[in-house]
Amino acid sequence: MEIWHRVGFGKLDNVDSKLDTWGIKYKKIIGLQDYYIILFDIVETNPRWKDVSDLIQKYNASDIYQTVFNKKEILAAEWLRLIPIFQQGYPQPEETWVSNPITYTSHCPQCGTFQQGSSFRIKKEPGLGKNDFMSMFWMYALFCTPKVLKELETHQIQGYEIWNVIIHNTDLPAQKVSQLYIPAIAQEGLSQVDDLKRQYCYTCQTTKYFPHMKGIMYLKKEVVNLNFDIMQTYEWFGDGHAAYREILISNRLAKLILDQNWKGIALKPVELI
Ligand SMILES: [Zn+2]
Repeated sequence: MEIWHRVGFGKLDNVDSKLDTWGIKYKKIIGLQDYYIILFDIVETNPRWKDVSDLIQKYNASDIYQTVFNKKEILAAEWLRLIPIFQQGYPQPEETWVSNPITYTSHCPQCGTFQQGSSFRIKKEPGLGKNDFMSMFWMYALFCTPKVLKELETHQIQGYEIWNVIIHNTDLPAQKVSQLYIPAIAQEGLSQVDDLKRQYCYTCQTTKYFPHMKGIMYLKKEVVNLNFDIMQTYEWFGDGHAAYREILISNRLAKLILDQNWKGIALKPVELI
C-alpha cells in the first residue's frame, strides 16, 4: 500500500529551488502574466516526503492524495472497494440534471442522497477506448460492456441486476454498455474513521462522510452478506451536494477482474474487523 500525493504550489510560494535541491522533479504550468503552478506526484515513502509535507502545511498548498494497492494486496483481501475511474459524458437531460435528476426517486437536494428509480440516460453510445467499465460525471453508477456481463454470468457472480442505459434522443438502449445495478446494501458498520470528516443532513437525516482516500477502509465483519459478490455500503460519502455509496466486491470477483485485466476501475482492499 502506498499513499501518493499530487501536490501543487504557486509561483509566489517560491519553492522551486528547495525542490531542485531535494531532487524532486516537477511540471510547471504557465499561466497569465508569468504566473505558474508547480505540480508533482510524491509517495509517502519518499525520504523527502516529511519536508514536502511541511511545505504543504506552510503554504497551504493543494494536496490531492490516493492510496494505491499492489496485486498481491488486492488478492489477499476478503472484500474490496471497486472504484469507477473512467468517466465519460453526463447523465441526461444534462441541463436540468443538477436541480432535477429524473433518474432518482428520492433525491435530497441538500446532500445528494438518492434512490435510483429508472435507467440512466446518456447522450450517445460512449467511446470506451480500452476500458471495460465506465461511469459518468456527477455520479458513481457502474456501467460495463456486454463482454463483462457474459463473464460475470459464466462465473455465477451474485448480487447485481443488469439495467439498460438509454440513449436520450432515440429512447433506445445503448449497445456498448449496460448498468451493473447493485440492489444489496450492506449493514451499517464503517469503523476507524474518527479522523474522517462528516456532515449530518437535517433534510434527509443522513450522515455523509467525506471521500475515504487514505489507506484501507475498515468495516465490521457482520456488515457484508456472503451470498453476494457485490454490494453497496450503508454509509454515504461525498463532498458538497453530491453523494455516493462505495461499491464492495468479494475476493472472488476481484480475482476475476484481475484475471481478465479489465480496465476503467480501481480496487482497494477493505478489512473486516
Ligand atoms: Zn440530505
